[in-house]
Amino acid sequence: MNYLTNAEKRTYGAIVIGSGMAGGWAAKEFCEKGIKTLVLERGRKVTHNEDYPTTLMSPWEFPHRGRLTDEEIKENPIISKCYAFKEDAKHFFVKDKEHPYEQDKPFDWIRGYQVGGKSLLWARQTQRWSQLDFDGPARDGFATPWPITYKELDPWYSHVEKFAGISGNKDGLDALPDGEFLPPHELTCVEKHFQKEIKRLYNDRHVIIGRCAHLTQPQEIHYQQGRAQCLGRNLCQRGCPYGGYFSANASTLPWAAKTGNMTLRPDSVVHSIIYDEKKQKAVGVRVVDAHTKEMVEYYAKVIFVTAAALNTNLILLNSTSHRFPNGLGNDSGLLGTHIAFHNYRASISAEYEGYLDFKTEGGRPNSGYIPRFRNLYKQETNFLRGYAAGMNAGRSSSTDREGLGESLKNSLLNPKMNQMWYAGSHMMGETIPKESNKVTLDKLKKDENGMPILHVNVAYDDNDDKMVQDFIDQFTEMYTKAGFTNIHHRDTKQAPGLDIHEMGGVRMGADAKTSLLNKWNQMHQVKNVFVTDGACMTSTSTQNPSLTYMAFTARAVDYAVKEMKKGNL
Ligand SMILES: Cc1cc2nc3c(=O)[nH]c(=O)nc-3n(C[C@H](O)[C@H](O)[C@H](O)COP(=O)(O)OP(=O)(O)OC[C@H]3O[C@@H](n4cnc5c(N)ncnc54)[C@H](O)[C@@H]3O)c2cc1C
Ligand code: SF4
Repeated sequence: MNYLTNAEKRTYGAIVIGSGMAGGWAAKEFCEKGIKTLVLERGRKVTHNEDYPTTLMSPWEFPHRGRLTDEEIKENPIISKCYAFKEDAKHFFVKDKEHPYEQDKPFDWIRGYQVGGKSLLWARQTQRWSQLDFDGPARDGFATPWPITYKELDPWYSHVEKFAGISGNKDGLDALPDGEFLPPHELTCVEKHFQKEIKRLYNDRHVIIGRCAHLTQPQEIHYQQGRAQCLGRNLCQRGCPYGGYFSANASTLPWAAKTGNMTLRPDSVVHSIIYDEKKQKAVGVRVVDAHTKEMVEYYAKVIFVTAAALNTNLILLNSTSHRFPNGLGNDSGLLGTHIAFHNYRASISAEYEGYLDFKTEGGRPNSGYIPRFRNLYKQETNFLRGYAAGMNAGRSSSTDREGLGESLKNSLLNPKMNQMWYAGSHMMGETIPKESNKVTLDKLKKDENGMPILHVNVAYDDNDDKMVQDFIDQFTEMYTKAGFTNIHHRDTKQAPGLDIHEMGGVRMGADAKTSLLNKWNQMHQVKNVFVTDGACMTSTSTQNPSLTYMAFTARAVDYAVKEMKKGNL
């Protein structure tokens, strides 16, 4: 491989690896603070609006009416399990054959390699953690204790929420602190019925409207970003032409670009971080051009690794040197271990007879939410931790597509209103990080960029099975008591990964012997390297994780810039 010269031109104040949810925030914060920042993104350029090819297409303009072909499903047994991998958004997902990895145990790795990462594709649910979540590992004796409290993260949640735009209701719950909310979406009448019944029947359970990253009432800061009100089209995964939901493409990256301090390099695969033994710090990164396969080095005072949890692990494990033969900062030997995820296996469906003078037509890019209620204040079940759940109830019309000619035409023109409301919930369970759940690098096999193939060795355990059963029991009881009928449960037994909330491997902690990052997301052993994506998570809790990654990122940049100014980095 050729090494280019002219190092000065390739020197920046900060390097950010990955341009997705966390990387976008790192870019924005560094650039706003006046730091020349290089954002390295392995995937192609996707510019807000310019590169959303399907965003304004009507259903009949899709050759397969939005579905995948049998051939596509056959060729993509992993990614086609993801509900959002459909004809309108498939161009934003990594196809199975494109970037292989080894599943030592079944693991569905869902990836989006492009500028903006998975922030284009997410379901936009955004809940804060509470102190109860940060207390988890210490209280229940698993993982290592979190080195940070809710109080320390609270202002950074606010910082992120105000800029991103989060809609929600102030519910005043211990398990789910309120944030800086735009007006909430509304629950449907049957969801409200469930809410009322659950409140009447249980003193520890609550049904609320989901908190989500949609501009229900844009503020000045959102207009300044060029974003406008969400119109409820519910086609978000195509990229929103109005910037109605938060994505790095619509929000943080253009904001960073406006400062004139950001250099964004798509098609730049970070191979490894360069550690200088004499300086005892990282001095830059090795980057493979995705097209020419040429290797180039870039240098900076500080490096943020935000390549999404497993790729962050891969890069750090691949960053070996005389000082760190087992991966950067890996004196503890724990790099790549304690990978955890969310348990999304179980769901409940039910029907409700009543409210037949109401229906739900049109889009609401949100749903109801039931915050965690199990083992919240003390251990009370035969499994550790707990689960939150989604909740939806809707009634719409359906069309009889049988028949031919005149009768088919008449059926299509006269859809019939369903006589029942359909409702459902799906679990979002916490899993326990374990040393045996880990990622490692293949010693022999490399990919087209010269990066070792990642081995994923992650599985559920007995705790997860017990939690699934409890969800099924509790939600069957809740729906039954609230007057629903035809209640069915399902355990998909889906592999880990399909929750798309993989975390850990580079966890935070106060003790360098049992963790890799300190309370500032800074590597204990390599002070100018920070990890702020899911890899940093010590435990998973039940909340959707991205809001917490964003808050960690903004907080860590603030700290890093202060340290840079003091000459400590
Ligand atoms: C369908 C779907 C629904 C989801 N719903 C929600 C939700 O409701 N709420 C929620 O909180 N989360 C949700 N998520 C998860 C959410 O998208 C992720 O938590 C979030 O995007 C993670 O942010 P990140 O910055 O770590 O990773 P990403 O957003 O994936 O960004 C990482 C970037 O790094 C790049 N990269 C990787 N390796 C390298 C390398 N070697 N060199 C250079 N660049 C590299 C990638 O190409 C990518 O662009 C959902 C995800 C999906 C797909
Ligand atoms: S629901 Fe809102 S954010 Fe999503 S595509 Fe429609 S307008 Fe955009």
